[in-house]
Amino acid sequence: MVLAQLGGSISRAIQQMSNATIIDEKALNECLNEITRALLQADVQFKLVKDMQTNIKKIVNLDDLAAGHNKRRIIQQAIFNELCKMLDPGKPSFTPKKGKTSVVMFVGLQGSGKTTTCTKYAYYHQKKGWKPALVCADTFRAGAFDQLKQNATKAKIPFYGSYMESDPVKIAEEGVERFKKENCDLIIVDTSGRHKQEAALFEEMRQVSEATKPDLVIFVMDSSIGQAAFDQAQAFKQSVSVGAVIITKMDGHARGGGALSAVAATKSPVIFIGTGEHMDEFEVFDVKPFVSRLLG
Ligand code: GDP
Repeated sequence: MVLAQLGGSISRAIQQMSNATIIDEKALNECLNEITRALLQADVQFKLVKDMQTNIKKIVNLDDLAAGHNKRRIIQQAIFNELCKMLDPGKPSFTPKKGKTSVVMFVGLQGSGKTTTCTKYAYYHQKKGWKPALVCADTFRAGAFDQLKQNATKAKIPFYGSYMESDPVKIAEEGVERFKKENCDLIIVDTSGRHKQEAALFEEMRQVSEATKPDLVIFVMDSSIGQAAFDQAQAFKQSVSVGAVIITKMDGHARGGGALSAVAATKSPVIFIGTGEHMDEFEVFDVKPFVSRLLG
C-alpha cells in the first residue's frame, strides 16, 4: 500500500464510523481494525500498530463522552495525535550551526540513496550560506568515489577521497582533518553501505565513527524497504549512535510505513525526505503537516 492510499484508507475508516447512527464500542472497533489493517499493509511494524490501537482506546472512553460531545472529532484527533507520536521520538536531533564546524556521518545500506542524499544535504546547506564539504569513505563499492566526485563537482562542493587508499577509516580521518583546517562548517562523511559480511560493515561503521567523532550520524533509508525497516534501522543504531533519519524515494511507490518503524527503532526523528533523483528534490520533514497531508 503506498502512502497516499494509507491516508485514504484511514480517512475512509473514520468516515464510515461517522456515518454510523451511534458511535458505540462496535463502530469504534471496526474503525480501529480498518486502520490497523491499513497500517500493517503499509508495512508499519505490528507492535507499533497494536500500541496505537490500545492508546486510542484508552484516550477515547466512549462511556465518558456525553451525548453532546462530537465523538467523531475526538476520535479523529486521537488518531492524528497517535500517528504524530509514532513519528516523533520526543527529542529533536542535533542541529549543526552555521559557522561552527560539525561532522555529520551518513550510514545506510547500499542502494538506499546515501551518496545522493549526502550531496543533497550539502547542497541544501550551501544554498543557505554554509561551507559544506564531502568525504567519501566508501572504499568497498567500485565507483562510489567517482559518483560522489561527480555530484560534488556539479554542486561546486569540495570533496575528498582516494582511488588508491583502501582503508576507509584513514580516508575519513584525513578528509575530516583537511576540511577542519579549511574552516568548513559542515563536513559530511559518506560511508560504505555493503560489505563482504554484515558484521564487517557494522564494525567499519563503528571504526569510522570512532575516528571522525561525528556530531550527528544520519541513517538513510529507502522508503520502499517495508517490514525490514525496523530491524535494519536497529542494527545500525546498535553499531553507531544514529541521531536522525532521512527517508529517500518518497516520490516512488513508497509504502511509508517503514518511516514510522525507523523512527521507533532508532528513537530519532526524520529530518528530511528525498523526493527525486535531483539535487534539489529534498524537503525538510515536519511531523504535523506530514500527518495532516496523509489524512487528507
Ligand atoms: P547508495 O548506494 O546508498 O549510495 O545509493 P545512491 O545514492 O547511489 O542511490 C541509489 C539510486 O537511488 C540512484 O539511482 C539514485 O538516483 C536514486 N535515488 C536516491 N534518492 C532518491 C529519491 O529521493 N528519489 C528517487 N526517485 N531516486 C532516488
